[in-house]
Amino acid sequence: MTTQGPADFAGQHLTVAGLGVSGISAARALAGLGAYVTVVDGGDGDKQRAAARELTAEGITVRLGDGDTLPEGTELVVTSPGWKPDSPLFAAAAAAGVDVVGDVEIAWRLRGPGAASWLGVTGTNGKTTTVRMLASILAAEGLRTLAVGNIGTPIIDVVLGQGKDGEPPYDVLAVELSSYQLHWAPSLRAHSAAVLNLAPDHLDWHGSMEAYAADKGRIYEGNTVACVYNAADKATEDLVREADVEEGCRAIGFTLGTPGPSQLGVVDGILVDRAFVENRQKQAQELAEVSDIAPGSGTPAPHNIANALAAAALARAFGVRPAAVRDGLRAFHPDAHRIQIVAERDGVTFIDDSKATNTHAAEASLAAYEHIVWIAGGLAKGATFDELVQKSAARLRGAVLIGADRALIREALARHAPDVPVVDLDRTDTGAMSEAVREAARLAEPGDTVLLAPACASMDMFVNYNKRGEAFAEAVGELTARDH
Ligand code: ADP
Repeated sequence: MTTQGPADFAGQHLTVAGLGVSGISAARALAGLGAYVTVVDGGDGDKQRAAARELTAEGITVRLGDGDTLPEGTELVVTSPGWKPDSPLFAAAAAAGVDVVGDVEIAWRLRGPGAASWLGVTGTNGKTTTVRMLASILAAEGLRTLAVGNIGTPIIDVVLGQGKDGEPPYDVLAVELSSYQLHWAPSLRAHSAAVLNLAPDHLDWHGSMEAYAADKGRIYEGNTVACVYNAADKATEDLVREADVEEGCRAIGFTLGTPGPSQLGVVDGILVDRAFVENRQKQAQELAEVSDIAPGSGTPAPHNIANALAAAALARAFGVRPAAVRDGLRAFHPDAHRIQIVAERDGVTFIDDSKATNTHAAEASLAAYEHIVWIAGGLAKGATFDELVQKSAARLRGAVLIGADRALIREALARHAPDVPVVDLDRTDTGAMSEAVREAARLAEPGDTVLLAPACASMDMFVNYNKRGEAFAEAVGELTARDH
């Protein structure tokens, strides 16, 4: 295990690739440790120049307009997640025998002796929800903890901030890890980790599904207590089998059905544990009721029950008591734009799942409701929609399509759900969402759900998925206001 101390970076010549949020924070943290830092970026716009001026004033070298050549004397390259593995800078690093790592690897190397354990979570969908559920459970156990990774404070800052200002250090961190971060974190060794699911995503970055899966699977390397997999997704179990773990580390499955030995699952509306009990052949431990998952947010969707089971498995692997699993799930509040009930009006429920930015996520949310008017579309990112539409066709009362790639969804609907009424909105201005919601409300019948689960990225029409969700909520608000 690599456990360097912070001092190890002092005096080293480090090159940070990318002058974005994560690059700037890594550069500052490393310069703060006494490293000689050069940030390189291919861009040379106003935004980059402004950031460069600030960093230069702090003694950090910034080179704009050339992200390809390796600065002389570089001993280690620290990359931002957006940079593809085949970037010329990395080829130059490889040729010079210089390692390339990401922010997670740096954070891992900075952990001192006795530092907090890491419980890792990855997967194509559900990462943020699961780490937040996990942190809530760990906190309910009375542990000092934080959900980190793609959320909130950059992970390097969290590790460096440990125990500063008289604060006691963290006991354990719930760490969300993207496939990019795992790719660049060769020495990471989590206490326990979960891969929630595996579906094609970000293949342009990884090059192939195999490479994407292999990077996700890295999260299991060197686990000491539990590798948590999804019993309904064989690919995740295969990754456990391929991982090189510490002696005694166990494979723990989670399932929405009755759990077998060494699994967590659901029996009659109760989350049960048949893994962390004394006799797993005969015993099952009740953890919580399904209705304990974020009460107040409606009946939990099946994928959120799965996320809760994964979080519970990691917490139990860390020794958390059953009552804390229940209390933590009760205290958990879902983030906005993830299956968020926006309003109920004339018997129709309006739900914002703007975060469903790929087909796998949209499939999960469409599976959660019986009769749906589906608002979908945006940037497809190379995805195809046949499977999604085939699986969801029987639930669709209607569909309203928006955004640049809506024709792809319209064609899939024509092929697999020809009887479903489709409204195709040929506009991308700010009023488009209002019209989409009005059309959806017109198609919906009492008892139905109007579901924004676009299966696409938002950037063709909105700044990000948050803004898309806000536009949806506003449009629903207008609807209610006008009709009363
Ligand atoms: P991530 O951090 O991996 O992007 P989030 O927790 O933010 O995941 O959820 C993103 C979207 O993915 C949600 O809005 C929901 O539509 C979907 N989702 C969440 N959990 C799962 C899951 N376990 N399986 C499939 N889809 C999921």
